[in-house]
Amino acid sequence: MSNYIVLLKQVPDITQITDNAFDPESGTLIRSRLVSVINELDTQALAFANQMRLESGDRNARIVALTMGPPMAEEVLRYSLARCADITVLLTDKALGGADTMATANPLAFVVRKIVTEIFNNDNDYYIVCGMQSVDGDTAQVPPQIAEELGLACIAYVTGVEFRNSRFEFTRIISGGSQVVAAKKLPAVITVAKYEYPLFATFAATRRAAGMEIIRWGSDDVDATHIGVSGSKTRVIRVFPPGKSTRKCEKISNVNSLAEVILDSFKTGVAEAGQGSSRQTTHYVLPARRDDKFDRTFEGIKKENEDFKILADTLSRLGISDVEHIDEYIKKKILTVAGEHFHDKALDDMITGLQLTEPTYNGEVWVVAEHSNNLVHPATFELIGRARQLADSLETRVGVCLAGYRVEPMAKQLIAAGADNIYIIDDELLEEFDPVAHRKAIAECIGKYQPQIVLFAATAQGRMLAPMVSYRLGCGLTADCTSLDIKDSSRKGQIGILFQTRPALGGNVMATICTKDSRSQMATARPGVMKRLPPRDDRTGKIIEHKVQLSDSDISLEIIKTEVGSGDVNFGAEIIVSGGKGMRSRDNYERLVGSLCDCLSRKLGVQVERGASRAAVERGFIERIHQVGQTGTAIAPKLYIALGISGAIQHMIGVANTETIIAINKDPNAPIFKQCDYYIVGDVEDTIPQLVQTLA
Ligand SMILES: Cc1cc2nc3c(=O)[nH]c(=O)nc-3n(C[C@H](O)[C@H](O)[C@H](O)COP(=O)(O)OP(=O)(O)OC[C@H]3O[C@@H](n4cnc5c(N)ncnc54)[C@H](O)[C@@H]3O)c2cc1C
Repeated sequence: MSNYIVLLKQVPDITQITDNAFDPESGTLIRSRLVSVINELDTQALAFANQMRLESGDRNARIVALTMGPPMAEEVLRYSLARCADITVLLTDKALGGADTMATANPLAFVVRKIVTEIFNNDNDYYIVCGMQSVDGDTAQVPPQIAEELGLACIAYVTGVEFRNSRFEFTRIISGGSQVVAAKKLPAVITVAKYEYPLFATFAATRRAAGMEIIRWGSDDVDATHIGVSGSKTRVIRVFPPGKSTRKCEKISNVNSLAEVILDSFKTGVAEAGQGSSRQTTHYVLPARRDDKFDRTFEGIKKENEDFKILADTLSRLGISDVEHIDEYIKKKILTVAGEHFHDKALDDMITGLQLTEPTYNGEVWVVAEHSNNLVHPATFELIGRARQLADSLETRVGVCLAGYRVEPMAKQLIAAGADNIYIIDDELLEEFDPVAHRKAIAECIGKYQPQIVLFAATAQGRMLAPMVSYRLGCGLTADCTSLDIKDSSRKGQIGILFQTRPALGGNVMATICTKDSRSQMATARPGVMKRLPPRDDRTGKIIEHKVQLSDSDISLEIIKTEVGSGDVNFGAEIIVSGGKGMRSRDNYERLVGSLCDCLSRKLGVQVERGASRAAVERGFIERIHQVGQTGTAIAPKLYIALGISGAIQHMIGVANTETIIAINKDPNAPIFKQCDYYIVGDVEDTIPQLVQTLA
């Protein structure tokens, strides 16, 4: 008999974020100004757990709903009681506030232990079911980190379940396809990526739920080891509105103009790729190498930068060229001139900061390689490109951790892409990706060589592996970065640290985050955002073999079936036409996407390739190898035409480096219209035949 613990979270309603939700002084969000709702994916997790209970036919199985949050978070527990939960637990305590993912996963794991002891009577036959991620954090880190704390298997990105041969088999999303897996032993953590079968509450059940008891525990009841701000391994440096997309977002009113725009875009292209192009700041130089010892133009926030500039100018006017010459008398003089900008405490901190010239962290800059069938994932090459730039600034080497079976042949390409040292962990048990076995091998290798920065691709695999590795090593982790820069924060005594910038709250805000209290700074970065360097076959590098002790007991999942795309697709083509769920059938896809591809190919004399959204692939409109996006292929054609595609983040990540994006969608509010260069509101059934006729 399995029991279920479902994790629920109350989150701000990201569809209703207003300008006054930002504190202009601190650059942080004022949560009280945001409407709270239950995290949508958590409602799907609840429905999923209920489905598991039904499928197993076990009427005695219990569903315990658990949330951590302020007292008002009890609303989400009442929601669950009105649907299918039997017992609810609210972990609430001021001391838990301000937590990052590590300081969230840790107390939640301790609550799970307490539930197992006190509610399940130490019965370990249970599943922890969570939404893949919450809309406020968007990190997908908490569930794998709970699994890591509890030493459990984690099955991430699950979309379906079947009860077969007395056990559950889960269908989940993997890079390039899908997989059916089962946990080798229980307990296990499941993260639900999509399960759109809502649970409804009756009026009577809602009334009953309102009167039911909720178990309330505080931090003293669970005795967790990492809680709140002090237990967190990352800190938010600033939150700011996202820059405007560099896409034009221009509406086209008729098919004739659309045909012209398509032809013009192909001939001329646009100056710069859209929002995906990574924003990199000036090349960082370590303080000891700067011409001016007082130059602190690499400060984290604008105010710090300005204060240091004022201080440097004042010191120059006073004729001071050595920080050791700043005595009490000079300090007074500085404050007389600059006292309106900073006070004595801040001045003391800056002077201490000026004395620092050595980087805070040391060690190499590492990338954890992702690969399958002896092919390196393109995102790994992109990360090596950025790692090379970061390492050059910090005057260190680039290392790549390559774990798998018979992987050495890939080392040459990694070196050509910019790596200096390849750390190979070769073991038959690492042939297939297993989160627990890979985490063990990679964490051990990182622990031994202690790089200062570790980058993972924010792919389905990387977003599961990185949280487990970072948690195991007690290091901070920032998810889905779109920009990675080296800066100083000398006033806080930090030199050459990694500033990790990422979208949050569904892309409504950007946050810059730094690691704290960690040996290594870790981040996952979005595929398609960093730039791959042109490969140089003359580069040389070193191969370092790292041995790990693995046994069958380290394999946490049984892989029952894997379906990945195969065949021949030329995603290097200059034009790609993709069809989404809006194509409605395989025949329509073939007729509409096919005719537009053929017509453009004839007209422009180039190869035009077919692409698709995941939803189109899942409906069988075209083979999986054609999928574009986070778990498909990231592409960078000159022209991308999206037909009947809504513009989900996982799709748009894959086209971020495209020169021109044109969208055709019948919904005037389709999100893709805010992420493309040109769009037309129209039904593909009418628009495409007309367009083909006009272009012919
Ligand atoms: C871990 C994970 C990884 C993922 N990886 C990927 C990935 O790699 N690639 C990917 O694409 N998705 C991926 N997804 C799925 C993604 O979240 C979306 O579900 C998917 O992209 C939606 O595809 P779609 O736009 O075709 O479908 P929908 O979102 O359903 O949109 C269909 C669109 O078609 C329009 N439409 C309908 N009929 C017509 C018509 N007759 N004419 C014109 N327009 C019409 C509708 O207005 C709508 O906007 C991933 C999800 C997860 C959780």
